[in-house]
Amino acid sequence: MALLDAQRIRYVFLDRDGVLNRKRPEGEYVTRWSEFEWLPGSVEAVARMNRAGLTLILVSNQRAIALGLLDEAELEEIHGKMQAELAQHGGHLDAIYHCPHDYGQCSCRKPDIGLFQQARLRFPEAGPEASVVIGDSLPDIEAGKRLGMKTIFLAGDRDRQKAGFQIAAREADAVAKSLRDAVEIHLGLPLT
Ligand SMILES: [Mg+2]
Ligand SMILES: [Zn+2]
Repeated sequence: MALLDAQRIRYVFLDRDGVLNRKRPEGEYVTRWSEFEWLPGSVEAVARMNRAGLTLILVSNQRAIALGLLDEAELEEIHGKMQAELAQHGGHLDAIYHCPHDYGQCSCRKPDIGLFQQARLRFPEAGPEASVVIGDSLPDIEAGKRLGMKTIFLAGDRDRQKAGFQIAAREADAVAKSLRDAVEIHLGLPLT
């Protein structure tokens, strides 16, 4: 049985690194497509949510841009390839928002909610009662909670766990070990 009231969920806000693709070691970033490694089952999970009629919105902190490790065009290219691979499996993300800033410079870097507010302009119904946030770090969970949205924390592998892990696991409405599990168990959408 799903822990969330999955029937009400129509919008899924997804973090990227550690949710769709394997998070790079702390302090390293995905700066080119060859560094983007899908996590097992994540492509299928995206397509499954698409088939269920959910709207999928990516909200991603991309501090690497502020650090000069990649630029907007390069990020765009990575996301283009990501969407192309999803499409090969019948999936897509409906919208992608990212924060290119460093800490403390903006109101869009999660746990701030600027990315969600940008999304709300395009998807006015993506409010707390209809939305869930799925992320693998505390800022994802904090942002979701600030908005009053349901939250699913992806606990992932122990070697990827970072500061705030225990708080995030406690604060989230649900904990799963992968996007695939979150979709199957908590959104009630079996993949097979
Ligand atoms: Mg992440
Ligand atoms: Zn920002």
